[in-house]
Amino acid sequence: MDIQTMCDKLQNLQSERAAYQHASAILHFDGSTVAPRGSAQERGMVMGMLSQKGYELFVNDDVKKLLDALWEKKDEITPEQARQVELMRKELDNLTRTPMDEYVEYVQLMTIADEKWRLAKEVNDYAIFEPYLVKTIEFKRKFASYKDANIPAYDAMLDDYEKGITTETLDAFFGMLREKLVPLITLIKQQPPKAEFANASCSIPKQRELSDYLMEVLGLDRNYCAIAETEHPVTMGINKHDVRITTHYFENDLLSSMYSVIHEGGHALYELNIAEEYQRTVLYDAASIGMHESQSRFFENMIGHHPAFAKLMLSKLAELFPQVYENVDQAQLYRAINHMQPSLIRTDADEVTYPLHIMVRYELEKKLISGELSTKDLPDAWNAMYKDYLGIDVPTDSVGVLQDMHWSAGFFGYFPTYALGSAYAAQYMATIEKEIDIAACIEQSDLSPITAWLTEHVHKHGRMLDPKDIIMNATGEAFSAQHYVDYLAAKVKDVYGV
Ligand code: ZN
Repeated sequence: MDIQTMCDKLQNLQSERAAYQHASAILHFDGSTVAPRGSAQERGMVMGMLSQKGYELFVNDDVKKLLDALWEKKDEITPEQARQVELMRKELDNLTRTPMDEYVEYVQLMTIADEKWRLAKEVNDYAIFEPYLVKTIEFKRKFASYKDANIPAYDAMLDDYEKGITTETLDAFFGMLREKLVPLITLIKQQPPKAEFANASCSIPKQRELSDYLMEVLGLDRNYCAIAETEHPVTMGINKHDVRITTHYFENDLLSSMYSVIHEGGHALYELNIAEEYQRTVLYDAASIGMHESQSRFFENMIGHHPAFAKLMLSKLAELFPQVYENVDQAQLYRAINHMQPSLIRTDADEVTYPLHIMVRYELEKKLISGELSTKDLPDAWNAMYKDYLGIDVPTDSVGVLQDMHWSAGFFGYFPTYALGSAYAAQYMATIEKEIDIAACIEQSDLSPITAWLTEHVHKHGRMLDPKDIIMNATGEAFSAQHYVDYLAAKVKDVYGV
């Protein structure tokens, strides 16, 4: 086969896979938004068939031969094609290392584990879930050893979500956060409670208008980006011309949906700004989960919690909700959006205490995988860490160790990407601030210079570059937690003057 024919086959394969993924994504979106509840079973069947076809299309000898042959000739194809081959070979290798029967068994276990976790959380009985957690951990260890038996199992798991990140990097990262943030907790605890207006009733139709406004401020082109409502806010990047975000409205918590829209909007900008030529290839995706999260957190935290943003939003909020916001001033709004308080639930946490929630999960899951901590002792270990780091008592496992779905879904190694994303965002901010007047952009409601910077340095590259190279090229230095720690300390000082 000549090289041109092989390259055509490579492109056809990617286009076909993208088509299956497109169809599955639409079904998934439909299921979580407008589809009637009774439709789940049939849809599940169709999605199963699509994913089976997608699997067969990719996992077979012809594809393996094609990728190997192209890899041999990687100097004769374009760098983009070589990268596609590299990524697909790694993916194929990962998929074929695990024996099919074990994988099927694992998928079945996940369905039951999810069910047991939900029940355990509902009735506050960790013992219901614990045996399934044991089995999940056994599978995860085994899969990690298939992937690479020469590295610690947890490191292999981390690599699934954030290429190149190791326990060594994370120990240093969280060590630094622990040292700087834990002493701030006592200080934060002494601050007054959140202003009452933040939980005043605000009509949901008006909140929908606020979402439209926020999307406009973010510069999201509504020709290519839609918004819908789901239980848990999410972003779905189907392709460059079809990105969907969702939010959830609470009548008594306007800020919840406001920041969901900004957060998901940040994810959407990434998806919308990946280079056109990467469409229908494996390069059309974020560089990593942490990198995706860096973009949502950048807009949510660095932009959305900026003093200038409080100023910009105040006039809009007063216009939409005069009964609540007419008599609120800018300083009050700034304090309310930046209100800090150690809390039980990760997803409700403020910017400063949030990484401590992640640190607890990181330390625990690392020990669970290594065997240093037994699943039986997990709730006690969880509660002790919440006391140590956040200074709070955990009243029940439902709001403690059972609060997140990640472990019941086998997502070991995923949690750190949340904190890494925020830390990447802080490092970008430190560079962008030197080049762009952020406050002026926000006040003029024109974020385009900031988005253009992010597109040039992050978005457009898709998966062409590894996360560490994107950070190095964009900021001129390797990833460092220092920017994040500095940013958080400055935030506490700015909000509380201490
Ligand atoms: Zn996110």
